[in-house]
Amino acid sequence: MLLVNEYMSTKTDVVIIGGGPAGLAAGIYTSRLGLETILIEKTALGGQVAVSPFIENYPGFTMISGAELSKRFIEHAELMGVEFRVPEEVIKLELSSETKIVKTNKDTYEADAVIIASGASRKKLNVPGEKEFAGKGVSYCAVCDGSFFRGKVVAVVGGGNTAVSEALHLTGLVKKLYVIHRRDDFRAEIALKQRLLDSPNVTQLWNTVVERIEGDTTVRRLVLRDLKNNKQYEIEVDGVFIAIGYTPNSKIAADAGVAVDKEGYIIVDKRQETNIKGVYAAGDVTGGIMQIGVAVGEGIVAAMSAFEHVTGGWYAKKKKLKAVRIDFEKFKEKEEHEKREEEKSLFKFKL
Ligand SMILES: Cc1cc2nc3c(=O)[nH]c(=O)nc-3n(C[C@H](O)[C@H](O)[C@H](O)COP(=O)(O)OP(=O)(O)OC[C@H]3O[C@@H](n4cnc5c(N)ncnc54)[C@H](O)[C@@H]3O)c2cc1C
Repeated sequence: MLLVNEYMSTKTDVVIIGGGPAGLAAGIYTSRLGLETILIEKTALGGQVAVSPFIENYPGFTMISGAELSKRFIEHAELMGVEFRVPEEVIKLELSSETKIVKTNKDTYEADAVIIASGASRKKLNVPGEKEFAGKGVSYCAVCDGSFFRGKVVAVVGGGNTAVSEALHLTGLVKKLYVIHRRDDFRAEIALKQRLLDSPNVTQLWNTVVERIEGDTTVRRLVLRDLKNNKQYEIEVDGVFIAIGYTPNSKIAADAGVAVDKEGYIIVDKRQETNIKGVYAAGDVTGGIMQIGVAVGEGIVAAMSAFEHVTGGWYAKKKKLKAVRIDFEKFKEKEEHEKREEEKSLFKFKL
């Protein structure tokens, strides 16, 4: 059985794990540099961006929907020659030899370099209303969505560094901010904590948990429980930011010997290289500032580093690179076809 698997494995220069901004940016670079690149994505290409309603802070776009931005990333990567494997899940990595083995639920790949861009999942409160109002008043990112709540009443749930940073970002924007924490003090850095406690429009609700999120078309109120007297009560809010931490999607990498920090984020150097030669990581899975621009930048650094590793650098000729021919005509045809389809539907609408 093992032999058959080995015989059937697909050989490539680079495997990228994850089809979010970090993985797609890395793919655009490795592929354009002439490396055969396979990108494996377990759900849908685009990553978290695809589910972000609006993006107002990605340079070059004052306002773009997450769906449109991710569509552009995907088309760009496709045009440069990245081969997508979707939906396909990486389930095991073997990284100790020079040739890296990537096992998925469908195939086995052998590559000279691996770029891990598997992102991080935001922890959920798991209370009624959270799922229903996601994107309709429930948010997991103040930097991303804070400006939609300018002059409104919102709540932040959590008490660590993430929650306090998110709350500080909101204090200058909103009319009133509740910070709801199940303990009686923040677990955040003292300087951050003090700045928040000094903010005039902040009310702390200590020893309190959220039991339900309620509303109609959007969030209207939170049903809370005071853990000290066990009483239930409600507060009126226009939105709630859940900031109880992230879980980096790094278990498979850690199981294969990739070094992670105490929270599980993959540790990288300035070249985005992990403790294992030829293995790179980029984007949210490495922690730090979790934004699209950062993920894209890290993906590019990882790609350039992987290129050096696989080829030995521009003049080393360690590896014969594939010729890169970008079929702009095919892309133009596709764009024109889409435009015609859009015009047709607009025409129908006008009728
Ligand atoms: C609702 C929301 C709104 C946001 N708005 C903004 C904003 O306005 N501006 C901004 O800059 N940032 C925003 N962000 C943050 C931004 O989306 C992330 O920082 C960015 O997507 C990180 O990119 P990434 O490629 O590292 O990870 P992700 O986008 O999380 O992509 C990782 C991908 O890896 C895949 N994957 C994981 N494990 C495996 C596996 N084992 N096998 C195969 N595939 C795997 C996942 O399915 C996922 O598609 C927002 C995030 C959310 C959730």
